[in-house]
Amino acid sequence: MTRFMAAEADRTAPLHILGHGFDGTVSFRPGTRFGPDAIRSASYGLETYDPLLNRDLEDYDICDHEDPELPMGDARRVLKLVEERCRRDLPDHARPVFLGGEHLLTLPTLRWVVDNHGGDKLWVVQFDAHADMRDEYLGNPLSHATVMRHAAELVGFDHVRQIGIRSGTREEWELMRRNKTLVDARIEALQQLRETIGDDPVYITVDLDVLDPSVLPGTGTPEPGGISFSLLQELLHCFDDANIVAADVMELAPGLDASGVSDVVAAKVVRSLLLMMAAR
Ligand code: MN
Ligand code: MN
Repeated sequence: MTRFMAAEADRTAPLHILGHGFDGTVSFRPGTRFGPDAIRSASYGLETYDPLLNRDLEDYDICDHEDPELPMGDARRVLKLVEERCRRDLPDHARPVFLGGEHLLTLPTLRWVVDNHGGDKLWVVQFDAHADMRDEYLGNPLSHATVMRHAAELVGFDHVRQIGIRSGTREEWELMRRNKTLVDARIEALQQLRETIGDDPVYITVDLDVLDPSVLPGTGTPEPGGISFSLLQELLHCFDDANIVAADVMELAPGLDASGVSDVVAAKVVRSLLLMMAAR
């Protein structure tokens, strides 16, 4: 397999990359099962050095793991397999970046983080166009459209923050407003959130459709009115010195953007997250 640039296979490394290609509960256009490999291949079009963070991936030890085969169509079983593989493949206190795959896969990886790093202080910061706060979707409680509801049950609504949300049902919006989970996609708002979080552990989940479809068309449920790449990067960088224990980059569907640009955008988000996590 092709590894993410500058990554190796040494499992004693502090930083890890785990890919999960699964799109079994998608409602609109499938294809995120090919996300992890597309991100890895596209990374070779980028430099390992990031001038904004002034850090180079070559200076850090990163282990990129072989992706497991996941049975399509059985979401419950896939979630269990992903959680088990995290437990098996990741050393205690490893800090992983997960590559998706549909957003539902944040649930098993978040469960691993809660088990491994503790859940009481853990924050989940979600970048997404969609609320993902339904209690069920098309009769199914296990769906990409319900994943943040499950996350909120794991860490508490008061430890969930959502950035870039511009789509959801009336019930979801009422729920988010009541629980004050929404944060404006502005630097000042994120700096304030960063202060609130302090040194508590953070899980950053990036659903790539938070970006405008003109920036990243290669995703299953594009939602117009999104943010630019530079804004996403600046917003993420507000957490550069935060205690990021895990992150994920979800919902890339490479087949839906024949130009391949979406893959590069996704790979650059992964590079940012790795370099931010490497600094601790
Ligand atoms: Mn989304
Ligand atoms: Mn999502």
